Order: sequence, then C-alpha cells, then structure tokens
Amino acid sequence: MADERNEKKSEGQELAEKLLNTRKNGFLKVDDAKIAEADAFCEGYKAFLRVAKTERESVDYAVAAAEKAGFVPFDRTKKYAPGDKVYANNRGKSICLAVIGEEGTKEGVRIAAAHIDNPRLDLKPIPLYESSEMAYLKTHYYGGIKKYQWMAIPLSMHGVVVKANGESVKVRVGEEPGEPQFTITDILPHLGRDQLSKPLGQAFTGEDLNILVGSRPVRFDDVKDAYKLNIMKILNEKYGIVEADLVSAEIEFVPAFPPVDIGFDRSLIGAYGHDDRVCAYPALMAVLAAGTPKHTVVTVLADKEETGSSGNTGLHSSFMEYFIADLAALDGMEVRHVLSKSLCLSADVTAAYDPNFAHAYELQNSTFVNGGLGVSKYTGSGGKGGTSDASAEYVGLVRRIFDDAGVLWQIGELGKVDQGGGGTVAQFIANLDVDTVDIGVPVLSMHAPFEVVSKLDVFMACEGIKAFFKA
Ligand code: MN
Ligand code: MN
Repeated sequence: MADERNEKKSEGQELAEKLLNTRKNGFLKVDDAKIAEADAFCEGYKAFLRVAKTERESVDYAVAAAEKAGFVPFDRTKKYAPGDKVYANNRGKSICLAVIGEEGTKEGVRIAAAHIDNPRLDLKPIPLYESSEMAYLKTHYYGGIKKYQWMAIPLSMHGVVVKANGESVKVRVGEEPGEPQFTITDILPHLGRDQLSKPLGQAFTGEDLNILVGSRPVRFDDVKDAYKLNIMKILNEKYGIVEADLVSAEIEFVPAFPPVDIGFDRSLIGAYGHDDRVCAYPALMAVLAAGTPKHTVVTVLADKEETGSSGNTGLHSSFMEYFIADLAALDGMEVRHVLSKSLCLSADVTAAYDPNFAHAYELQNSTFVNGGLGVSKYTGSGGKGGTSDASAEYVGLVRRIFDDAGVLWQIGELGKVDQGGGGTVAQFIANLDVDTVDIGVPVLSMHAPFEVVSKLDVFMACEGIKAFFKA
C-alpha cells in the first residue's frame, strides 16, 4: 500500500524536492556495506588513538606509518619524480608529508591541514612539592579546558626530559596495563558547600590543578621533603633524571582512558583527543593512499593550534611554507606562484549539535552526528572575527568534489551567533594566498577529557580528503 502511494508524487512534492534543502540522517543515505567500511576504518583510528595521545607521539606514529608506505625524509638537494613520497619532520612535533604529482607544483599543491596537539595539563618548570605527607606536581593547563572536568579522573604522563648532558629521555607512564596512573582530587559533596555556592568558572582555578603522585616518604628521618624526595628517587632510578632536569622538559598529563565504542549500536567512539586527531588520522591515511596524484599533495599535521598556532611548530610559523618552497624549487617555481594556485582543506573538528544543550545551537545551521563530514565556510567570533571566510567559488568547488565522489557532507556553524566561537589554522594558510575552507568531524563534548564522534563521520572525513587530493 505504502509503495503504491509513493509511486506518484504530487506537483507540490516534486517542486519541494527540486527546490528545497532537505536534511536526512547520513546513516539512511548509505548502505550497510558503507557502514561496515566505516566501522573497519575506525578500528585503525582507535589503534592510532591508543598509541598517539600527544603531538610528539602523533608524529612518531605518522613517521612510522609513512615509512612503511614508502615515504622517505625529504632532501631538497635530490630530484623527485611523480609518485615519489617524502616527509619533513619538524622538531618531532609537527610534520609535512607530500606525494609528488604528475604536474608537480606548477598548478599549485593540494593541502590537508590538521593539528595533533590537544587540551591537556603541562607541568610547570619546577613542579614537584609535598604537602601534608603527600607528593604533588604543579601544572599549567594547555588550551581551552573546563577545569572541573580534569579532576577525579585517571591521568597518564607523556613527554620528554632533556638532562644536563643533553640526553633526551622519553617518559610515558599510565597507559600500559599494570602501570600506575595519577589524579587530581576533588572535595567530597558532603563538604562541598563553599565550592557549590561559586559560579562554575570561579569554583576551580588553574592553581588547583595539582596532580597527586605519591604518599610514601624515604626512610630517612634527617631529611626534609622526604615525600618529594621519594618521588625523585623513583624517577631517578627509572629515568636517570634529577629535579633540575625538569626545567628542560615537556611533560603532559592527559586522560588515561583508552578509546572505546559508545552506544549499544557501537556507532560512536569515545576517547581523549578527537580534537583534532579525528581529522589528523584521515588526513594522514589520505596522503598515504594518494598514489600518483595530478597535483602534488601535502598533509600537514601541526602543533600549537590549541594555543593559537604560534611557535615554530605551529602553522602561524613558516615551516609549511618553507617545505612548499622547497617543493616549488624542484620545479623551478617561486613559492608565491605555487601558493597562489594552491587549495587547502583546513581539517579541524566542529561542534556537533547536542540536544542536551540545545540553547547554544542554531538548529538549522548546525552539524550533526552521523551527518557526514562538516564544512564551515567561516569560523571565528564576534561578527566573523578571526576567520578567513572561504569564497563562494571555493566552497562551490569543494562541494562539487565531495558530491562527485559520493562523500557524505553537511554544512554548519559552530553554535549560535555571539554564543562563543572558535578559530582554526585556516586563517594562517589562507593568509599565504591559498584558497582555504574549514572541514571537520562534528564532536560532542569537545575539549572534554572524553570526547565523542560518529564512526561514519570519521570515515567520511577520509573519503573527503582523498577526493580532494584527486581533484
Ligand atoms: Mn581543533
Ligand atoms: Mn580545539
């Protein structure tokens, strides 16, 4: 009966179908085979999340995966042929990977940019202290966090310590089964009256984020700081470091949760660091699978996005431009002529519509979980402040590329006008005279220690970047 009724559409229905934008859940736009492909792709993504929780670990992963796929360190004195694969490791914290195209850089390059740093707790230069017979580490938070979310959860320690003799020691504690973890304590509700009477933004301060790391002293009764000393004794035995070495260290405390499937239907992934590993992994997989593209393709995985992209491993610096300049020189081109013809997808997460916080979103211009890859023509705040705002022509081109390749995509803004806002690396790449638009996977609980994304959307991010690299 229903089928018979649907066979003939009314004139009004046909007109509406032809002229109006309609929204349909992405799951219903693809078949089960595509869902299975997405789920399988996300097993690889989860494996990446398990080992790469910091920018340094992400670069290590990218280098290993790239070398396995035939990439070699870039050498600007060598000649390269179409299909050759190269990478440039920038100080172990950001990386450019390129596949030389048939036309090289003559008609510009195709860039996919994502970031591999996440909100976290960094140690202060002199972090260790003891108080009331317990040992703690002082932190300085990195990126935009809601401080209360980082209390009373398990934390792990990642980073490097450079010793007085220059030797660099990698540290990673709390990720393997059986290893100790760390935490920041919170007041019990029974005694939380003062805390509960304060506004959320004032109840938790940066100076409260002290990590509990021990509670047993050394067995000498003639030393002060016996609890602190015991922690240094353990660190010295394990890593050969002394307290003074912590001044030349980058130690990051991150949530110790492993990535897991979320939901009875396993349609989502919960993990620390989706922002922006959920775009970095697809951008990496797309460049590894680029074959021999028409135009040279570049994936850049950048550091320092969460603090404004400044510094020599962030995209506000020149490291990517220098890399493209070297590629241009191989073709006898000037970098500015290459950049002017280049196209970029700035791949960073966007906010998924959250019905529990509906007041912050504008429904019609939101991106949704399972809606596919999100496109944002502009980001920024306060009247499009701090955004590059892609041109209609460029959004038109990207839209055609995605549609022609069958990529599931959606467009939206990050929440209501003047509700807040955020920026990405898009503006820094656009400022190099590159056509740039923001794309990315919609995330629930963005910047929380445990963020949520849809498996279908992660897969579509990779499909979108792959299609862009072929265009
Ligand atoms: Mn981001
Ligand atoms: Mn972010």
